[in-house]
Amino acid sequence: MVPGVRLVILGKQGAGKGTQCVRLARHYVVPHISTGDMFRAAVRMGTEFGMRAREYMDAGELIPDEVVIGVVKERLEQDDTKVRGFILDGFPRTSNQAEQLAAILGPNDVDLAIDIEVPMDVVLKRLAGRRVCSTCGTNFSTATPPKYDWTCDVCGGEVVQREDDTVDAIKRRLVLYEEQTEPLITWYLERDKLVSIDGMGTPDDVTQRLVRAIDRRRDALRGR
Ligand code: AMP
Repeated sequence: MVPGVRLVILGKQGAGKGTQCVRLARHYVVPHISTGDMFRAAVRMGTEFGMRAREYMDAGELIPDEVVIGVVKERLEQDDTKVRGFILDGFPRTSNQAEQLAAILGPNDVDLAIDIEVPMDVVLKRLAGRRVCSTCGTNFSTATPPKYDWTCDVCGGEVVQREDDTVDAIKRRLVLYEEQTEPLITWYLERDKLVSIDGMGTPDDVTQRLVRAIDRRRDALRGR
């Protein structure tokens, strides 16, 4: 496998991770693996697993590690992740998840973890206005709505506010981010796999910075 596109995208909620992961997945032609999207799909399907996941999500709590790790492991066993790479969005979120991910991937460990940095006041403003397509997960906002009457520009689905974007759930997710997920920045830094990217500016600006950082890492891994 050509090295360089096994990526983990980190950053607070509202940092623009979802949008950037969709763009990067298109750019590098690799699967975008979002644990949040996978759990939301299970909720929509009304499976027993989905019902249980929903309780955690609506409260802004993390789904237990063993459940999340099982889901990601199964996804990473599919062939499409073994061709060119993958983009992990929303996983890992705890050091235990990061350790388990490294164990699952073995010699094909992630090439780069990218932290998209956005100040807290901006994050809070973005989250209040965040809207998402209930069918395909494309992100919009009250500042950049879809063209027609809250109908998704990509798939025609209904664009709504996420059910877990309540004030209480947002606050809880930010606390958990600081406690459990932020330490992953150091975790990847210590393993020489971290790059931090400025998440301010237009989505195009941020994508450009991300692509530059990823291409630099790919060149280094290819020995150029
Ligand atoms: P997200 O779309 O990434 O913000 O995820 C939405 C919700 O799904 C989170 O608030 C958690 O309840 C759950 N979730 C997603 N990914 C994970 C993960 N890696 N570990 C634990 N819970 C997760």
